[in-house]
Amino acid sequence: MSFKSDKCFGVMSGKPVTSYESEEEAIDGINYIKDHFNKSVPMSYYKCSKCGYYHISPKSRETESKLCDCKDENGEAIQLYDTRKAAIIRATVLAKKTGVRHNVYACPKSTGFHVTIENLDSSK
Ligand SMILES: [Zn+2]
Ligand SMILES: [Zn+2]
Repeated sequence: MSFKSDKCFGVMSGKPVTSYESEEEAIDGINYIKDHFNKSVPMSYYKCSKCGYYHISPKSRETESKLCDCKDENGEAIQLYDTRKAAIIRATVLAKKTGVRHNVYACPKSTGFHVTIENLDSSK
């Protein structure tokens, strides 16, 4: 059975994400979305390290990423990238989009890298 998580929330929506008890159910969930919403966005599933269940999410075109236990200044979970290269690619995309420089740093808590907005005030 799928159910709404009480631990995990969508990065964009802030709403509880759908959780699946097994890989098979997550795959079913992906197929359901494909059939019913005619989404051309490729979806993927992952085992959540936070709640232990499976979630599905749109496959990022640019990089594979997941969420970390680290929180940003707004208390939101931040994206974790497996490799420095993936994080740099993401930082470059964000910089182009927003016109703000982004930095990449190694996660202090787990294995991976984060992208952060460069704090211009502290560099003065
Ligand atoms: Zn979760
Ligand atoms: Zn982290």
